Amino acid sequence: MNRNVDVIIVGAGPIGLYLASLFENANKSYLLLEASDHVGGQLVNLYPEKDIVDIPGIECIKAKDYIALVSSKVSFDHVLLNQNVLSIDEINNEVITKTKDNEFHSKYAVISVGLGFSKPRPLGVNNEEEAKNILYSLKDFTFLKDKRVAIFGGGDSALDWAKAISELSDDTHLIHRRLEFRGNPETIKNSHNLKVHLPYVPKEIDFKDGLARSVTISKVISEGEKEEEIIIPVDYILVNYGNVPTNTPFNLDYDGNFIKVDENLRSKGNIYVIGDACSYENKKRRIAPGNNEADKLFKLLAI
Ligand SMILES: Cc1cc2nc3c(=O)[nH]c(=O)nc-3n(C[C@H](O)[C@H](O)[C@H](O)COP(=O)(O)OP(=O)(O)OC[C@H]3O[C@@H](n4cnc5c(N)ncnc54)[C@H](O)[C@@H]3O)c2cc1C
Repeated sequence: MNRNVDVIIVGAGPIGLYLASLFENANKSYLLLEASDHVGGQLVNLYPEKDIVDIPGIECIKAKDYIALVSSKVSFDHVLLNQNVLSIDEINNEVITKTKDNEFHSKYAVISVGLGFSKPRPLGVNNEEEAKNILYSLKDFTFLKDKRVAIFGGGDSALDWAKAISELSDDTHLIHRRLEFRGNPETIKNSHNLKVHLPYVPKEIDFKDGLARSVTISKVISEGEKEEEIIIPVDYILVNYGNVPTNTPFNLDYDGNFIKVDENLRSKGNIYVIGDACSYENKKRRIAPGNNEADKLFKLLAI
């Protein structure tokens, strides 16, 4: 894909979305690129259920509802998901933004990558990335009906998955590396079908034709204890180990993890930065100050 627009916005967290809503409302030519498969940034990835009380004009709103609200003002024709931007450079007054497979040309680029792109933490076993049946997020459980499923993780979402899936399949395993869950164990109290393995860790996966066929788990033992392994045949392995943030360094001036900007939010040439990603004196990493930066930049660019 090769696209030309006036403005490329990189990162669809709350601040990138808010700026997009301003361009949308003014009927401007822009594209919003997001590395993950959903918009919302930290609000969706880290604290979807938290009440936000410090956005002017909104009394109290859950983080996920704020994202739904600001997203509703953006046309999804202008949002491209799964576009991890790897480089942004200006050549002959044109900004060129590249992902692994695509290249975008624009007058301006606005970086709103916040704290970076959250990737699911992997299981950490051999050749894991090759298996098509190892999943890290789930939108729907129904395809798991009567499947053999091994779930790894001990937080609230792993327990929610275990409860819901064990109602669909009586061959559901939950594996956690400690004797106690981080999440609320009450969630699975009545999940009588669920086979719980504590404290176990994944050891290896047996692959065939790009699919995990079984997973071997080994008990976390103290000195002197006998080693114990269990082989679990699987149709799917679900991993819920949380996320790790990754930050793509662009060819710009940094102050630690953040990109330095001048009083006009400019980093270099026609490349600007707003939201958590930018650094200047007394910068506040909150939604309202980020939205103020978006308002200021919208007026400045005046395209
Ligand atoms: C626990 C917690 C609670 C908070 N509570 C509040 C609160 O109550 N009120 C408040 O005002 N603020 C709060 N904050 C701060 C607020 O979440 C941040 O200020 C806000 O998320 C910044 O938005 P952003 O759009 O700049 O970045 P982010 O939210 O980090 O979004 C960045 C987006 O860019 C994407 N991205 C990253 N790299 C790339 C790339 N290379 N290519 C394409 N896309 C990329 C990411 O996937 C992400 O979607 C809280 C923060 C935390 C951690």
